[in-house]
Parts: sequence; C-alpha cells; structure tokens
Amino acid sequence: MANFGHVYLIGAGPGDPGLLTLRGKDILEKADVVVYDRLVSPAILGMCNSKAKMVDVGKMPTHHKVKQSEINKLLVQYAQEYPQGVIARLKGGDPFVFGRGGEEALELVAAGVEFDVVPGITSAISVPAYAGIPVSHRGIATSFHIITGHEKAESNGELSLDFENLAKCPGTLIFLMGIANMDFIAKRLIECGKDPKTPLAFIEKGTTPYQRTVMATLETAGETIARENVTAPAITIMGGVVELGQTLAWKKNLPLSGKRLVVTRAAKQASGISARLSALGAEVIETPMIETRTLECPLVMAQAHDSIGSAMPVCEQPVTALASHVIASPEGAWQSSPVDFNTLANFDILAFTSTNGVESFFKQLFAAGYDVRVLAGKKIASVGKITEKKLLEYGIRCDYVPEDHTGEGLGRLLRDVVNKEERVILSGERSSESKDLIESRILLLQGNLADDTLLNLLPQATRWVVYETLPVSELPDWKREAVENADAVVFASTSAVENFVKLMSQGTAGVLPYLKATNGSAPIPHTSFCIGRMTESAAKSHGFNTVTSDETTMDSLVKKIVEFYTKNS
Ligand code: SAH
Repeated sequence: MANFGHVYLIGAGPGDPGLLTLRGKDILEKADVVVYDRLVSPAILGMCNSKAKMVDVGKMPTHHKVKQSEINKLLVQYAQEYPQGVIARLKGGDPFVFGRGGEEALELVAAGVEFDVVPGITSAISVPAYAGIPVSHRGIATSFHIITGHEKAESNGELSLDFENLAKCPGTLIFLMGIANMDFIAKRLIECGKDPKTPLAFIEKGTTPYQRTVMATLETAGETIARENVTAPAITIMGGVVELGQTLAWKKNLPLSGKRLVVTRAAKQASGISARLSALGAEVIETPMIETRTLECPLVMAQAHDSIGSAMPVCEQPVTALASHVIASPEGAWQSSPVDFNTLANFDILAFTSTNGVESFFKQLFAAGYDVRVLAGKKIASVGKITEKKLLEYGIRCDYVPEDHTGEGLGRLLRDVVNKEERVILSGERSSESKDLIESRILLLQGNLADDTLLNLLPQATRWVVYETLPVSELPDWKREAVENADAVVFASTSAVENFVKLMSQGTAGVLPYLKATNGSAPIPHTSFCIGRMTESAAKSHGFNTVTSDETTMDSLVKKIVEFYTKNS
C-alpha cells in the first residue's frame, strides 16, 4: 500500500474559484496528477502545480467523454504510476453529491489505494444562494431535497423518480442535471398533485460570471426552458423560497459580467490586474507569455564601440560558466560576465525599467548578503509608476520618473540630469572628462531581452542583467481551450503579442484560432486591450482590434476596458 500514491477526491465547488476550499487548493498546489471534470473552472486549473500532469476526463458533451469505469481505473493506474505521489481527482461541486465520487472511492478501496475526500461546496445549495434563494426559510420551507433529473430506470429508460412522493413533499425541491427532462418532470409532478403555480427558478452557470436566473412556475417550466434557451449546467429549484429571490438577488450585474478576458502578463505581475478585472465581473484566464527567472548573480553586458561607432561584441572578463546561459542580446551583439555587488560603489544612479528588474535585483542583493544600505546616497530612476510602486515596497523612493513612462523618456530624462551635472561641474572648472565619468555612473538594471533604447541614449551607462526572460513555449490543452473561447486579450508588451500569436497559431494552417464566433455570425477578430503604443501596433499588425489605455498604467487600462464594454453593451 505504501508504494501507491495517495488519491484526493476534491470538490472544486460550483464555479467561482473563490469557493474552492483551502484544503483543496493546498492539495492542488502540490499534486503530481490532476484528473479533472468539465465543469471545473480554468481559474482553478490555473491553481494546480504547473508541473502536474493534467488529465481531462470530461470533454464537452459533444466530444468523447471518458467513461466512469475508465476514470475509476485511471485513478488506480496513476496511484500505481506515482508511488508516494499526490493524485488529485477534481470534481465539480461536492464529490459525493451526484459526482460519482463514491464509485471512484470504492474502486480505490478495492485496489488498496488510500484516499481522502475533500468536500466541496455543492451547486445544489450555493447556486441558489448566489441567486438570492435560501433553500430553507422559516415559515416557507423546513426541508430541502436534492434530486437528480437524469437517473433512468434500467428497464424502460424512464426517469426512475418517485413522483407521487415528490409531489407530496412540502420542502424545496432542487433538481440537478434536470434541464433536458424538466418538461416531463414538471408534468408528472402536476399529474401527481403538485400545485401548477409552484414558483420555480432555473439558475444557469451559477456563481460564474455567466450566471443567469430565469423564473417560471411548474406549469410553464418546459416552455420557459425552450423560450429562454436555458442550457446546462443549470439547476432547477421549486418551492415558495424561490420568490425570495426577487428581493434577495444580491449578485449584481457588473460591468464585465459575462466577459472572459485573457491576461497575458507574467504570472507575478498579472495578479493585480486579474483581481481587479474579476472584481468587475469578468472571468480572467491568466496566460503568461513569458516566464522570468532571476539570475544567480548580475551579469554585466559590456558594449564597446569600434572606430565607426557601431556596437560590437566584447568580453571584459573571461566568460564563466555562470555567464554562459545568458550570452546574447536579441541581436547577438553582447557578451556577458558576472559582477560583484561591491562594484555598486561605482554608480550614482540606478535605473529600473520593470518590476521584475526590481525584484530580481533585490533578490540577488539579499542573497549576496547585502541589504538596502548599499543604496544609501544613490539616485533611483524608474521607467514608470508600476516600477516606482514596486521600489517603494522595498523602502526606496524614486528620484526620477519620466512623464511619459517610456524607456525613451527615461533615457532623455537621465541624459538631461547628466548634462545639468556636467554644466555644474564645468562651471566649477572640472575637467571635461567628467562627462563620461558621470554618464558612466548610471547603472541600468534590466532583463536579458531589454531593448537598447536606454543604452543608445546613454551609451556610457552600464547594464546589469538581473533576470532572464524565457518565452512560454507551450500552452496546456485546458488553457488553450479557455483562451480560444475568450472575448478579449490583455497585452502589456510587444513580446507578449508576438508570443501569443506564435503559441496560438501552433498546429493551425495559418488561421488563428483566437477568432471567436458570435451568435453564429461570422467570426470577429479578438479585441485586444493594450498598454502602450508599441504593444498596440504589434497587436494591430496581427489583425487584432485594439483598444489602448491612455496612460501606461493598469488603472488606465482597467478604466478603458470598462468603458469599452459599457459602450458596446
Ligand atoms: N457534484 C456536483 C453535481 C454534479 S452533477 C455538485 O455537488 O454540485 C452536475 C449538475 O450539477 C449539473 O447538471 C447542474 O445541474 C449542476 N451544476 C453544477 N454546477 C453548476 C453551476 N455552476 N450552475 C448551475 N448548476 C450547476
């Protein structure tokens, strides 16, 4: 037994990722294998250990669906394949409420595989709650009953429900999986004596950004489903409590309700914007296009000018093994070698052009046994407000931030600072060599893919490469599917645009799959929300409709996204 992995039957809740339990999340973060169902939200899949093997056993109804008996076997098989491993079986709602979790558990017991059950919030109760319908209420309903609307009698294919008793039952009736059979169910209940005027609600995709409540009565159930095109997943709730939903429907229709937005920022930077877009009602699919990795030690990228002034590769110090993994700029014109933090003494101005740069710099600094005191007396420059804010988290206030928040703006600003210094120095009758000295005392803290804008404007400055950026080379299937069905993509850099297009074009004959069909009409290009004009033109060049923020800040972008959907709704 000890040689098997441990299986966790985890309830993912009804849809809203916030309704996953803490214990469920904890297990997903360390899972080696995740076997998941169709109703599990992409946001929850995104919480899983990024190295986990993701196994989809619940394709869309039209696709091949893995049979329950096969799922049972799969769980045993993974437990055997991953001795001591963590196998998460992730199911919608609660695993033991019409989730066939019991059958899976029985198979595990038979095979001698140990398991835990991690209950989830069942849709039966939480979906009505999100529609403002309490399943029990003093004076209205003293019991509630959760019923499957799907179970067929083996012999005749008829629903095997005890309609006589259900019709007599005074409590709230909650049907799961019942939409397809609801016309029949409602008629049978009326035949068996239930009041045709019993209030009833269908709640579609409850707790998700697409939640919809449709009210009816028992006698209008079938026609309402057809007229309103109620589709699964939906629950049906019947009884006096349904009327409370008129007063208690608390879930507001938010500006971004029903929109699925793909955020392509690197994971660490995405959380801020993702949280804000979710709070505005959107379903956010975080799909970083790049992964960044802090280098173990800064690498100086040395630039030398030959006699005609063009950059040529040079290696100041012998290239060490450490340096060998970041050797070239995109043009291949750079050589690199590691530096020591002692050399910080040679610089007066430290310029940061990204939050990654800030984080990686401090990570290296602390790892090398230093702390912020080495920055005493130095001037700090930041390309924009987000980087400035990040610096503040480390207790560092910026001295220089360009108004336009661009690399070019920062370069010009620092050049002005240097020129001003130079005039001061010249008036003090210092040697004109001081100019080089001052400009050469600017240190740029950047990633290996930073463009050369700053260095071109400040040719004597030094660049330390503190992190490297690797483009994401593959998307897991579940994410690709989620992205294909999105309404829009958020881009914050040209490299994100380029990599997104590259990833999404993989395996398609030149037709980008991120064109979403709307209501059966011709597909329209995805909208992209862009930060910065460069990003905008990259997105345009790939056929996106573009909407660009007025300022290069997340605030400004979020405002623009809301404006866009408010205008176009
Ligand atoms: N174990 C699950 C139920 C699985 S049966 C649970 O505890 O919730 C699947 C049925 O659950 C669907 O047909 C639908 O009736 C209901 N359901 C699940 N998620 C839902 C949601 N977000 N909104 C409405 N109904 C949902």
